[in-house]
Amino acid sequence: MTEISTNKYRCPACGFQVFNRRFAKCESCGAALPGEMLFTAAERAALDTEHERRRKEIESAKKKKHQRVASEGVYVGDVGVSGGEFGGSADGGCSGGEGGASCS
Ligand SMILES: [Zn+2]
Repeated sequence: MTEISTNKYRCPACGFQVFNRRFAKCESCGAALPGEMLFTAAERAALDTEHERRRKEIESAKKKKHQRVASEGVYVGDVGVSGGEFGGSADGGCSGGEGGASCS
């Protein structure tokens, strides 16, 4: 839980709790914060990457769900087509039964 560990970061000038260690200045008084209190460029990049990765995961998950529904719709369509073919063969069966008055 990084949120908890950030609680120890406070502005040396006003004591304001630093929530966003990306900012080089105190969000309350604007005093420059010690470098060790802030995220390094690498840490910020890692956070951005992680944030972006999660966002894409969520987006792709939504897309996958959508695509799955769409493909299921196609599959249902295929079933409908084969059902029609089945109906055709049923007709054949009907004509095969020549002389059947009910087949006309
Ligand atoms: Zn401050």
